[in-house]
Amino acid sequence: MKITVVTSNANKAAEVAAFFHGAVEVGHIPLDIPETRSEDVGEIALGKARYAFGQLKTPLIVDDTGLFINALNGFPGPYAAYVQHAIGNTGILKLMEGRVDRTARFTTAIAFTDENGTRVFKGSLEGRISSSPRGDSGFGYDPIFETGKKTLAEIGVEEKNRISHRAKALAAFHDWFLEEFRDRIDTNG
Ligand code: IMP
Repeated sequence: MKITVVTSNANKAAEVAAFFHGAVEVGHIPLDIPETRSEDVGEIALGKARYAFGQLKTPLIVDDTGLFINALNGFPGPYAAYVQHAIGNTGILKLMEGRVDRTARFTTAIAFTDENGTRVFKGSLEGRISSSPRGDSGFGYDPIFETGKKTLAEIGVEEKNRISHRAKALAAFHDWFLEEFRDRIDTNG
């Protein structure tokens, strides 16, 4: 059995493929999916998965990720993609100038859809917004999101894939998926 990751973000697809490496075959379709507006990344992922299944008619997963900064009342939240595009990490650091509370959280919702319906799995990572960008692996907000003393862009992709919001959501999906499709998964590849 094969799972298809539907995303226009190649970095997300690579993280999912690395997570399942050797366990489940993962394909990638770079479809741009319209997003429903919601405060909840789970709802957004659900809408995206249903739309993608309507187009592609194959078992698939989609990911929706939000960044919630406490000092900014949860901004940019589910609008993380728009804000990254509009003001980028520099803009976020500007908004954070002089803030004592730098705590923040990433939440990823992974939605799986097949002909039997859709399921959503979530994972979160608590951290802090750094005072300047550091590191050059990863993507998006990784250079300004600290977990411990290092940013996600400094710890590297392998370590990120062990601890990240996306890894936690994928682990929950993985456990359910292996149980649900036990008899249809060829674990030898
Ligand atoms: P979306 O889930 O495609 O809506 O992405 C939300 C925004 O957050 C995009 O700008 C991504 O680049 C960014 N993003 C998503 N996942 C991560 C991550 O794991 N690290 C850093 N930035 C991320």
